Amino acid sequence: MSEAPYHDRDGWIWKNGEFVPWRDANVHVLTHGLHYASAVFEGERAYEGVVFKSREHSQRLHLSAKLMGFDIPYSVEEIDRAKAETVARTGLNSAYLRAIAWRGSEKMGVAAQNNRINLAIAAWHWGDYFKDKMKGIRLTIAPWRRPAPDTAPCQAKAAGLYMICTLSKHAAEADGYQDALMMDWRGQVAEATGANIFFVRDGVLHTPIADCFLNGLTRQTVISLARRRGIEVIERAIWPNELASFSEAFLTGSAAEISPIGEIASIKYKPAKVTEQLMADFSALTLRKNAA
Ligand code: PMP
Repeated sequence: MSEAPYHDRDGWIWKNGEFVPWRDANVHVLTHGLHYASAVFEGERAYEGVVFKSREHSQRLHLSAKLMGFDIPYSVEEIDRAKAETVARTGLNSAYLRAIAWRGSEKMGVAAQNNRINLAIAAWHWGDYFKDKMKGIRLTIAPWRRPAPDTAPCQAKAAGLYMICTLSKHAAEADGYQDALMMDWRGQVAEATGANIFFVRDGVLHTPIADCFLNGLTRQTVISLARRRGIEVIERAIWPNELASFSEAFLTGSAAEISPIGEIASIKYKPAKVTEQLMADFSALTLRKNAA
């Protein structure tokens, strides 16, 4: 049996300062955010009822809005509180959260300087991002590249930047893969369609410099967990012709957590010591209440 669609579920969604019944958390079709992608969002997880890195996610939401030219009319503290209340209302121990801010429907057209800025927060149960992730996920190469930093505000978690991600992920799925590895505008390895990427060679972690894609909070967490373990981490330009030189590879993201990679376009990887160690350390961190 397939799950109920997102618009037709029980529960409550926090919207502009109050909880509304899940099915009533709607927007009008003439909403700026829908037509012109003037929307920014966060994907987060709560573990043991506590939102992981809540403060950092709320701060990034504020930053994303700033980069898109608007201010969210709720402080970081208010957003943190609203997220905690939203999770508490679900009664779930572990939950996925979405916070989204968007320009409303007061004016239509490319310019909409004074449209209301809305904010909504929803939480629900969402298991592993990738089915059978422990088998090692299979990636192909994306047909689209991450844009240069002067082409789009690449550090914003902005809805518009996901257009090429959906196109790439759909193309991958059509070819029987689970996700796509995106190169950047220079042809360097960048990230997957909704997660950052790491590689292992001779016990050393390699990851692309986040200079034209999201410097994920999970990416930052994994880098610090690795360094704490004495694992060397090198952030550098990685070129596609190096892919075969790595032995392990994995994705990181709030939804993906740490997802071992089994294959990138016929090159095979096997999760081993480094991936397993970091997965164990990440679980230990997230499954502790009020994780720092
Ligand atoms: N890149 C993209 C395109 C993403 O959507 C995400 C998920 N937010 C990430 C990277 C990882 O970011 P984070 O670890 O902060 O969730």
